[in-house]
Amino acid sequence: MAETPSSAQVPENPAASRVVPAIKLENVTKTYNLGEVQVHALRGVSLEIYPGEFVAIMGASGSGKSTLMNILGCLDKATHGRYFLDGENVSSLTKKELARVRSHKIGFVFQQFNLLSRTSALENVELPTIYAGVRPQEREKRAREALDRVGLAERAMHFPSQLSGGQQQRVAIARALVNTPAILLADEPTGNLDSRTSVEIMDIFQKLNRDHGLTVAIVTHEPDIAQYAKRTLEFRDGKMRLDVPVQNRFIAEEVLPTLATVDEDDIDALADVPPGAHTSNRDTS
Ligand code: ADP
Ligand code: MG
Repeated sequence: MAETPSSAQVPENPAASRVVPAIKLENVTKTYNLGEVQVHALRGVSLEIYPGEFVAIMGASGSGKSTLMNILGCLDKATHGRYFLDGENVSSLTKKELARVRSHKIGFVFQQFNLLSRTSALENVELPTIYAGVRPQEREKRAREALDRVGLAERAMHFPSQLSGGQQQRVAIARALVNTPAILLADEPTGNLDSRTSVEIMDIFQKLNRDHGLTVAIVTHEPDIAQYAKRTLEFRDGKMRLDVPVQNRFIAEEVLPTLATVDEDDIDALADVPPGAHTSNRDTS
């Protein structure tokens, strides 16, 4: 990343030092009101994620992972409890204020990529810079740098339909990085991708984390994907049940050479196929 905050280093013992957590939740609950019925999606979650961490959030479908991510990403608000983002209490902000915080501090990656289809990769990546009030001359430069960081500089003028699923997700990651966020959040980022492409995406996350100190938190229900993180949180019934360091961590850079490759020309040949049609369809919890 162009601007790496000096605080983005993994402290020896973060809890004991004065490093401000990137994320701190205090007894956060989320209840969805469906008329007569109340769904208790989060039942009191407290956790801290420090700068430079790489966390995988796991758990069965319905355990509250997406609810948690949406709160962390300032896309939704907790019912009760407090949320400190980069040291700032964001629990009591209005939706408008939250949107501003989100645009400056959060990079969010979705399972379905969520790119604008009639818009080039470059313009997709530029969009958040417009909302963040970046000067026009600066926008394209930043967007090109972000595309370069995910290895897609040469595809800047491609439309999403002309890109493979993995490439579309890389554009989405570039878009998430373009405003140099404090934390990158991704909800099942590999859920729509085949296994090799999934490892390529984990390679990007690991390098952003290792080389640029970027704090990363991803949701996945696949244990082999969680092995690329440094720490795993396991959710069940809206509560965090497990918080453990990853043992025998996988390094994507080492795993990739052992996997079969897909020829980029094959991907170009598939460019006319509707987006997603040539990606495998996994569980979409
Ligand atoms: P996960 O991502 O782990 O599959 P979710 O956070 O999506 O779990 O869902 C947790 C619980 O909250 C589930 O019971 C789900 O049905 C419910 N839920 C999620 N979003 C909503 C919503 N917008 N309205 C009502 N209930 C919801
Ligand atoms: Mg989910």
